[in-house]
Parts: sequence; structure tokens; C-alpha cells
Amino acid sequence: MSAPSKTNIVKTYIGRFAPSPTGPLHLGSLITAFASYIDAKANNGLWFIRIEDLDPPREPPKAADEILNQLQLLGLEWDGEVLYQSTRSTFYQEVLDLLIERGLCFACDCTRTQVKAMGAVYDGSCRKRTLPPENEFAIRLETESIEIGFEDVIQGHFQQSIRKEVGDFIILRKDKLFAYQLAVVVDDAFQGITNIIRGFDLLDSTPRQIYQQRLLGYATPLYGHVPVIVDKRGLKLSKQNFAEPVNAHNSSELIHLALQLLGQCPPNNNQSKEPRFQLQWAIENWDIQAVPKLANIPQDTQE
Ligand code: GLU
Repeated sequence: MSAPSKTNIVKTYIGRFAPSPTGPLHLGSLITAFASYIDAKANNGLWFIRIEDLDPPREPPKAADEILNQLQLLGLEWDGEVLYQSTRSTFYQEVLDLLIERGLCFACDCTRTQVKAMGAVYDGSCRKRTLPPENEFAIRLETESIEIGFEDVIQGHFQQSIRKEVGDFIILRKDKLFAYQLAVVVDDAFQGITNIIRGFDLLDSTPRQIYQQRLLGYATPLYGHVPVIVDKRGLKLSKQNFAEPVNAHNSSELIHLALQLLGQCPPNNNQSKEPRFQLQWAIENWDIQAVPKLANIPQDTQE
């Protein structure tokens, strides 16, 4: 008797790069773009772009176009149509209404100064109010006293006691703009994202996002947080050094540097190649285990 044929379960990898268009890409954001692209392509996956244009006052005109143009010059071709969060308000509102109906939210008019005085973790004081605030108010999501942990593919195990370390968090801001924390969860689910590779600065937002995914019955993607780039003094990139917008016309040098910072060992002669050949090398040789938790700007590119 022949062996029963195995069912072929092909799990599609869907990754994404989701910049906020607050300015052109700098080396730090570029590293995230590269890592998410290469990881998706090394896994035969799709790579989507989502422009997180949720905060018009912080978005210079044309910044989104500039980012897309930089990505194109670097040979980072995305799949499908670009998704703009500015077109998605109806969907965020639906989810917000659902959470409100389920009694999981409350209005809060506490100021930043008040929250700071609470030790920077919101203490839940507005949960108990009986009258709606007279001042402008935000909507917060109630958090439970639970630990949320996950295995980050780069940083390892990360765990947070969400109520103690973060507190009830804002999902609709006082200015009535939807908060990043809500929109990112709704859109990652909407786009069917399975793998998220993004900057280390968002590591501690991840438990908040997993918390909402559980409340809303969404799947939790796999997460990997690429390192913050530091200079030789161990300082995080700032405007004074490599946080300058990258000149995507130097694409070959940039790709080489990005790969080095991601712990890959691109051959030196790769630098003289066209971006598509460098990227091809990167996809074929990608080793996510080699990505460091912290990355240093190589000496020879400083000053
Ligand atoms: N829009 C966020 C940023 O530019 C990234 C969001 C994410 O990758 O989850 O920092």
C-alpha cells in the first residue's frame, strides 16, 4: 500500500514596511526597510508597503512620495498597491466602536503632566469617573493584569506586564486622531501580515498590539525587531550623524552598509554591483540569526 499523500499546507509569508511619512528615510529606517524586504523575499513572501499617515500635522507634504521614491532607487520593489492609513478611518472607527460597546474603553482627559506625575504609567484613574469629561478627552483601552510575552526572532524572549509597565493606553487621541497602536493592529490583520520585521524602538509596543489582537480575535504575526544603530560612542543615531536623509542615489554603498549593519557579510566586490544584484546576493545568503541586537556604524564610514 502506498503511503498516504501529505497535504501540502503552504503558509504564505506576508511582510510589510510601514513608515510614518514624517520625513525621508534615514539610515535607521532604511535598515528596517531592507531587513523586512530581504526576510520576506528569502522566504518567498510578499512585501507590502503601508504609509502610516495618521498624523497630518507631523507630515511634510510629499514625504510619502519621497519615501517611495527612495525605496525604488534602492531596488526595493513592493508587491500590490501601497496602503495609506489616511483612507482607513471608517475601519478604525468600526473597531473602536466595537471595543467601546464591549465596555473595554473609557474617556480620559488627563494631561501629559498628570500622567508623568503618576510615574509615566497611567494609573487608570479615569476608569472610575461617573460623568463624561468636560475637557477634550482621549479614549483609553483598559488593560488587564497579565503578562504578555512573545519570542522575537532577533531579540529573543520579551515579556511585559502590560497593566503595570504600560497601563491603560490611548487608542483615540484627544485631537480625535486614531492612535498608532489601534491602527497598526487593524491594518496588520486587514493585510494578512504574518511576519513583522521592524525597528527596535517598537519592541515594547508589541505586547500592546498582541493584547488587542487577542481581544479582537486576530492572529498574532511573528515579530522581529532590528537593532537601533549606534555610532562608535554607543550613541543612538541622531540628526547630527547618520539620521540625515539617505541619498538613495548612492544605492550600492548604502545597500552594502545596510547589509553590514544587519550582520551579513556581503563580499567587497558587491559594492560595485547594481542594487538588484546586491539584493539578490542578500536574499540568497540571508541569515536572520546573524542580525545583531545592537549595531555599530562601521568605523570607516564615520566622520
Ligand atoms: N509607522 C511606524 C514608524 O515609522 C512603524 C510602525 C510599525 O512598523 O509597526 O516608526
